[in-house]
Amino acid sequence: MNLTIIGVGYVGLVTGTCFAEMGNKVYCVDIDEKRINNLKKGIIPIYEPHLETMVIDNQSKNNLIFTTNLKEALDDSNIIFIAIGTPESEGGGVNLDFIFTVAKQIADNITKESLIVTKSTVPVGTNFKIKEIINENSDVEIHIASNPEFLKEGAAIDDCLHPDRIIIGSEDIKSIEILKELYGPFVSNHDRFIIMDVKSAEMTKYVANAMLATKISFMNEMANICEKTGANIQNVRLGIGSDKRIGYKYIYAGCGYGGSCFPKDVKGLINTSLENGYIPSILSMVDEVNEAQKMVLIDKITNRFGHDLSNLTFGIWGLSFKPQTDDVRSAPSITIVSELIKRGARVKAYDPKAIENFKCEIKSDNITYVDSKYDVLDNADALILITEWKEFRSLDLNELSKRLNQKIIFDGRNIYPKRIEDEGFELHQIGC
Ligand code: NAD
Repeated sequence: MNLTIIGVGYVGLVTGTCFAEMGNKVYCVDIDEKRINNLKKGIIPIYEPHLETMVIDNQSKNNLIFTTNLKEALDDSNIIFIAIGTPESEGGGVNLDFIFTVAKQIADNITKESLIVTKSTVPVGTNFKIKEIINENSDVEIHIASNPEFLKEGAAIDDCLHPDRIIIGSEDIKSIEILKELYGPFVSNHDRFIIMDVKSAEMTKYVANAMLATKISFMNEMANICEKTGANIQNVRLGIGSDKRIGYKYIYAGCGYGGSCFPKDVKGLINTSLENGYIPSILSMVDEVNEAQKMVLIDKITNRFGHDLSNLTFGIWGLSFKPQTDDVRSAPSITIVSELIKRGARVKAYDPKAIENFKCEIKSDNITYVDSKYDVLDNADALILITEWKEFRSLDLNELSKRLNQKIIFDGRNIYPKRIEDEGFELHQIGC
């Protein structure tokens, strides 16, 4: 099949590449010329395991074509995926300007009957507005489908090639059949297709993210209660996760969730709810608990060192919002590093992939970036672990002892064993 993917970010590039991998001809269209020119040269704009080789391979087979020319792409394809960003708007809602701009651009360039599939996370009703805009500006017959994306950054290729489910929201049997055929090679079991109406498909994506965010905020709240009472959230997690109704996933306490999806999608759903006259009490608290949780490490640091942190240096391990990605959007590291600097501290930071993106978030002479995890610790007064990349999991305690001014660790993801306290380290964790 010949497809166009509009928006070549985390979702568009990964899904476009996976469709190409299955032998489809995929045009990847973006307005960012630098991004497209780099991709043509095999330079990948994001870090995602296994992506680079697949992009280069499929480009060389001419299955994957990068372009800024939407018309060229639409002339040679009749399935059009929208995978552009839907960031938070100033009022906490969803900024759909990019989506509606793309709808108008499709209308201006489309020449033959096509299926328009929205992969971007959009509020209930948006697909119908996209259809309306295209119909108002073009006579070409179009069909629409909502096909929200569930990939996880850091495991995106695997998620895309082996999806848990493929949601297709459409009222049109032909569109459903086309999408089932396109996704056929990704599923050995056709039970993976879940077909529903457009609005429910749009809502499913928000509810999935809201549920996962709720689990995290709930556990963070439980961790805070554990800490007050002397219980240990790690033991509690093992105790409750063993109940199959609860399970072990997404019940880790930590220093808050981040990323380009959970924070904005929880806020987006709150906004949709309020716009429709319903006050979403649980969702509002999920967001509020998360914002407070991003400050938990700062509270622990100021309890230990006082509110004035000038003359102190902190070594940071991990800046991305989670391991295996370079994405720092809404990452807890942004709050934590800003708050340290605000209190006069100097920060030395290391992350395996996210340093360049982080540099765009905070500009300060008080931050230095180093390219080795142990160099971060030279003359630092404490180590702060924010993102649990695998390379941070095992500690060389001799190296830490040699380099740190004080043997103090703030472990924002509860990855270190309590026994390191026996080696003279002071270990501060979340909820234990
Ligand atoms: P992104 O910011 O990484 O990429 C968006 C791309 O769209 C950018 O390259 C931008 O230049 C391009 N773009 C903007 N306007 C355009 C236009 N008019 N024409 C062509 N290209 C244009 O975004 P993302 O993280 O891939 O997210 C895309 C959507 O998918 C969002 O709605 C997001 O909520 C959703 N989503 C994201 C993830 C994730 O893990 N990142 C997972 C599931 C769903």
